[in-house]
Amino acid sequence: MNSKKRGMLVLYTGSSGVGKGTIMQELLKRDKNIRLSVSNTTRSPRNGEIDGVHYNFVTKEQFESLIKKDGYLEYAQYCGNYYGTPKQQVEDLLNQGYDVFLEIEVCGGLQIMEKYPDVLSIFVLPPSIDTLEKRLRKRNTENEETILERLGQAKREISFKDKYKYAVVNDKLEDAVDEIINIIKTAKSETK
Ligand code: 5GP
Repeated sequence: MNSKKRGMLVLYTGSSGVGKGTIMQELLKRDKNIRLSVSNTTRSPRNGEIDGVHYNFVTKEQFESLIKKDGYLEYAQYCGNYYGTPKQQVEDLLNQGYDVFLEIEVCGGLQIMEKYPDVLSIFVLPPSIDTLEKRLRKRNTENEETILERLGQAKREISFKDKYKYAVVNDKLEDAVDEIINIIKTAKSETK
């Protein structure tokens, strides 16, 4: 029998360009009990993105077929593409005792809060909208139209931050990572 305690589900949201991916990479290095859920998406891979690692890149038909089978914990459309969390993978990791991060946008986040009212929810904020715009432009992965669309979306998303238990400002990377590690420690000590 597997006697390992079930892991913790962590809802982790932040607008495009806020640096949540970079924070996540640091968290994975620092805490070996954390796993990141790999989402399905219909968006095209960016340079350097690997199928099965960053996302499972699927067609609209494949995505919709899994919706019909009730295979998603949550899913949403974001800037014209589907994104969703496959249920089975998350269940398996939680049962193996890992703390599973769902790096997802707010519509999906709200669905998770409905299903799991006690979920540990963290919202990553930019120090300012100006900084966010600079970061989005600097990474040079999107065209002007998409940048503006993502900025608009970011402003709408930030208005939901109060629905999350914790808001972490990503000004300095190490500080944001430390803060999240502490949030997890506190949450774990409370559920012991
Ligand atoms: P990107 O295209 O920049 O990789 O992701 C766009 C947005 O979709 C980000 O806010 C990202 O966190 C979110 N996202 C990624 N995977 C999922 C998912 O499985 N479900 C939902 N609802 N959002 C996701």
